[in-house]
Amino acid sequence: DNLFNTLTFDNRFVRELPGDPEADNYRRQVYQSCYSRVSPKAVKAPRLVAYSREMAGELDLSEAACQSEVFCQVFAGNHLLDGMEPYAMNYGGQQFGHWAGQLGDGRAINLGEVVNRQGRRWTLQLKGAGPTPYSRSADGLAVLRSSIREFLCSEAMHHLGVPTTRALSVILTGEQVVRDMFYDGNPQLEPGAVVCRVAPSFIRFGNFQLFTSRDDLETLKQLVDFTIKTDFPHLGQPGKAVYLQWFAEICRGTAEMIAHWQRVGFVHGVMNTDNMSILGLTIDYGPYGWLENYDPDWTPNTTDAQGRRYRFGNQPKIAYWNLVQLANALYPLILKAEPLQDALTVFTQTFEQTWQRMQADKLGLTAFDPAVDQSLTAELAGLLQAAETDMTLFYRGLSAIEADSALADFRAHLEACAYAPLSAETLSLADAWFKIYQGRLQRDGRPRIERQQSMDAVNPLYVLRNYLAQQAIDLAEQGDFSEVWQLLEVLRRPYTEQAGKQRFAEKRPDWAKQRAGCSMLSCSS
Ligand code: AMP
Ligand code: MG
Ligand code: MG
Repeated sequence: DNLFNTLTFDNRFVRELPGDPEADNYRRQVYQSCYSRVSPKAVKAPRLVAYSREMAGELDLSEAACQSEVFCQVFAGNHLLDGMEPYAMNYGGQQFGHWAGQLGDGRAINLGEVVNRQGRRWTLQLKGAGPTPYSRSADGLAVLRSSIREFLCSEAMHHLGVPTTRALSVILTGEQVVRDMFYDGNPQLEPGAVVCRVAPSFIRFGNFQLFTSRDDLETLKQLVDFTIKTDFPHLGQPGKAVYLQWFAEICRGTAEMIAHWQRVGFVHGVMNTDNMSILGLTIDYGPYGWLENYDPDWTPNTTDAQGRRYRFGNQPKIAYWNLVQLANALYPLILKAEPLQDALTVFTQTFEQTWQRMQADKLGLTAFDPAVDQSLTAELAGLLQAAETDMTLFYRGLSAIEADSALADFRAHLEACAYAPLSAETLSLADAWFKIYQGRLQRDGRPRIERQQSMDAVNPLYVLRNYLAQQAIDLAEQGDFSEVWQLLEVLRRPYTEQAGKQRFAEKRPDWAKQRAGCSMLSCSS
């Protein structure tokens, strides 16, 4: 374990918070406890699929450490390093708008909290490492396809500048997991895998909600005070006023995260309150997706296909709804509704400001002028939807269009990004919009190079398109991990055009539209 002696653990969560006194690992309701101690399940034949160099670097792990047999054993759940104290967290939440009671880490096991050389804290968490007291009716496992999706997207989002939990590694377990991928009653065996997720904290809105729902205000207060002390130390000594400031910060962080999702075209797919990080990090990569043809009504989650609660265009509203649920959970500590209401306006204001600024950035404008840009952006959204335009390629390519380009140039760009032929009506919409945009650029008067550079810094060229992830998964299921590594590599610099990487920056091919895994996905896999 020499290669790992750079890892220093300081497990505050289990040291300072009340834990489950029961040691046996069986499924149950766990009261007055923030966690249960549980060991990862040993697996047959761990095999490294991929790891993130950047994340390893953050943890002071060398390349040699990451390529070692010990790494594979540790991050598959077969071996604990000195200082690791594994535990599963207890939380509840609303699923699809309905209170679901105790959920908890049903297939996640925290290994401990690392303090790196810079003094930064990182909690390591295995996902898919076997059952816990919170596994309810499920198996505690994860399959390779969903693990690769979580691993790649976590790191891709980080490099895009979107607040997110991270991923260190994805490892095959050498065991088979039963899944009914098509819900046709024909379960299949799929390769099992474990992802090591990493975040300063994995605490969710639902951790607080659970205790309030049980009228356990003592544990609620302990967890709130702990969270403020650990993750929001700048707020100072916990008390009513600090609780409110803290809640306002959660509102701000959540608003910024959602604005980033809208900027890059990310659809989370399961914004249940147990999937909302207290730090405003994107968490729990399941049936997420990336907008290809721009469509605010699109949801990648098959479970959400009816109500479309978690559709792209609804993400800001749902985030607000989730924050209201958190406010309700914190109410017993504050006993006044009005200041919580006021804090909620921080969400609305932050989102509005951030999103306006981002829209201006995406269009290359120095600032968002609500008087004209409100309609400019609304009309563009209508145009992109009417033209079934690839969102990523449209914005990326827009920087090459000049303030004095011909209408035909813009038409050609739109056509190149569209998934369907453009109707005469859409073309006239396009002309009308482009004229207004040109006028707007001319009034803005920004030098062309400066505008292009700033647009290219916020409009990515490479995102984790659903079909690209699926192609990497198909190969990985055959034992070839090269495409996972290739994707990881190209997604490290999403805003920089990279030689020889054109195939990662193309429209979704026709075959991918209907294929499972390339468009729609289900919740737990
Ligand atoms: P999710 O929809 O991924 O946020 O999961 C909701 C809840 O179900 C969480 O409490 C998860 O821990 C739990 N869960 C999801 N999949 C599994 C699984 N395969 N085994 C055990 N628990 C699971
Ligand atoms: Mg979850
Ligand atoms: Mg999940």
